[in-house]
Amino acid sequence: MSAFGKMSDANSTLAKATRSIIPASTDHAFRLRKLCVGIVSFLAASSINVSVASAQVTSEAVPGEIIVKLKGSGKSLKSQAFLGKAVSEGGLAHKGSWTGLNMHHFKVNDSRPVDAVIQQMQADPDVEYVEPNYILRRPDDTEDGEAVSMAEVRAAANSSSSVASSSFTQSNAPVQFPQAWEAASATGTTIVVAVVDTGVDYNHAVFADSGAMWVNSREVPNNGVDDDGNGFVDDVRGWNFAYNSNNPMDDDGHGTHVAGIVLGATQNISAYPMSPARIRIMPLKFLDSNGMGTTSDAVKAIYYAVNNGAKVINNSWGGGGYSNALVEALNYAYNNKVVLVAAAGNSSNNNDQSPTYPASYPIPGLISVAATTDLDNLASFSNYGANTVHVGAPGSGIYSTYPYNTYGRSSGTSMATPFIAGLSALILRENPNLTAYQVRELVFSGAVPVASLASKTTTQSRMNAYNSVQAAKSAVASSSQPNSQASAQRAPAAEAQAAGCGLVKAMRSDFSGPGSGDGMKQLTFFGVLLLMMAPVLIAMRMRRQAAAAYRRRFPRYQIASEVKLCVGDRELVGSVSSISMGGAQVNTDAWLDNGGVVAMVIKSPDGREEITVSGKVVWSEEKKRYGVAFQDADTSSLNSIARWTKSLMRAS
Ligand code: CA
Repeated sequence: MSAFGKMSDANSTLAKATRSIIPASTDHAFRLRKLCVGIVSFLAASSINVSVASAQVTSEAVPGEIIVKLKGSGKSLKSQAFLGKAVSEGGLAHKGSWTGLNMHHFKVNDSRPVDAVIQQMQADPDVEYVEPNYILRRPDDTEDGEAVSMAEVRAAANSSSSVASSSFTQSNAPVQFPQAWEAASATGTTIVVAVVDTGVDYNHAVFADSGAMWVNSREVPNNGVDDDGNGFVDDVRGWNFAYNSNNPMDDDGHGTHVAGIVLGATQNISAYPMSPARIRIMPLKFLDSNGMGTTSDAVKAIYYAVNNGAKVINNSWGGGGYSNALVEALNYAYNNKVVLVAAAGNSSNNNDQSPTYPASYPIPGLISVAATTDLDNLASFSNYGANTVHVGAPGSGIYSTYPYNTYGRSSGTSMATPFIAGLSALILRENPNLTAYQVRELVFSGAVPVASLASKTTTQSRMNAYNSVQAAKSAVASSSQPNSQASAQRAPAAEAQAAGCGLVKAMRSDFSGPGSGDGMKQLTFFGVLLLMMAPVLIAMRMRRQAAAAYRRRFPRYQIASEVKLCVGDRELVGSVSSISMGGAQVNTDAWLDNGGVVAMVIKSPDGREEITVSGKVVWSEEKKRYGVAFQDADTSSLNSIARWTKSLMRAS
């Protein structure tokens, strides 16, 4: 069971929201909206549990939605054909693709259970993995006390009374942030911290007055053009993945509170006038107004953060089963030296026994954060794990920003996480070339042992900002970092059949003719399919009699050329007897028992050119014979073959 996805969470959200309608609040509209949020959250949570066989758990997922990762290049004819097939015959609606990852988001059109569709697709050897589109949530943090206005906070901060001036300190835990700010270099690289959450109220005085919000300077505002070519139009402030817009405004409150803690870890946010911000907050909204989001949107947000310059990503959210798509995104961040900080969860759960994602993914640049109190006790709600939760940070009664220029107190691992994200930014500000792994090590080495975390976290310690910032000054940036242990869990069925028959099996019915689909999309896919399948098969040996007459898409030409085939570390030599735009016919039996992807070197008819074509040994059920599909051939290879075949005799 997910630490964040329980029914009881939704119920307590409702209870919390009901409590907070009591008219002591300075902003009734905000509180009223949160009540509605709680009710919607409760209703939504009551009908979206699906069983997922592969994950061995019941995790919340978006009804009918799956994420599919295909093997090989997304530009390959094979992958494009797979997509066409999935839409035209697989009963799936295509909702989007991650270009370059060969990862695709589908919705099941009919009433088939999602786990049945997943199991069916996992059996296809062209599929690397397929998984539900899990639902993710902000943790059910507790709001403590009333919201107050920024005017009140600033008046208190400027008061001559030390009691008043310290009353809105973010945390009274002995984490030595003010000392760290004193020790920090006056100038330094401005580090961007992505807050992947419910959005941020970027108009809040704390962010506006300090200049803390990230601005995409390569984008011209409101010109309707993707000026920087990053795939997002007018993304000046970040992005709203939940509603697919360029406005990451917070409609929940969680993300704004988290962002205030990130900023507050780097400077005093109650002081007035504020100092210029030393960091930048990049708001990436993927949780909706109910605090709910999906794996597909979280993945998009993480790639956006990495590709647009964030060096730290704050993840105060979680849920769902083990997601290969999310692991890949997080590994991408890690490999780009981006620090990942994640909330351990608020279920008083031992994450060693029952993992909480994304905090529990074993990525060396990911910091899983438990929440401690001002007195260094483990907060009663905090998840822990002697092997999987790393370090404690203050998460009890933390003051920070709320939307509409208010300020308030909340408790949760969501609040502990941004202290570590802010500290990571301070560390990188001192030493911007450190790897994510090194930043994590500096957070760990600076932390102070506390008894309550002795058997609850890997470091047995609670963070100390001063120690870590001081150590960062003299740290020497490393050129490498450990490999991530978190990897995509491939489907066993796909591995067993990886020799390559499934493609043909999956595509078989497309030989029936162009009537099988309608509309431009299907026609395009059908064309791709023909290009790939009809001619691509090169006969290597007839296993059985050809069952039916087969019409070639491309004419076949006689050729006599030596070819070299590399199967793993074995190199086999044979000769080509015919060739077409789709494939070559070869006459050696030696390759038959070597399945999988092969690299083939083909000489031109005059022997003066040589091209290398990637292919996969496949069995054609229609043609009852083996072949090598040219699905991964690049355009220049196909151009060469086209040029050669002009002067060749047709083969039978
Ligand atoms: Ca853009």
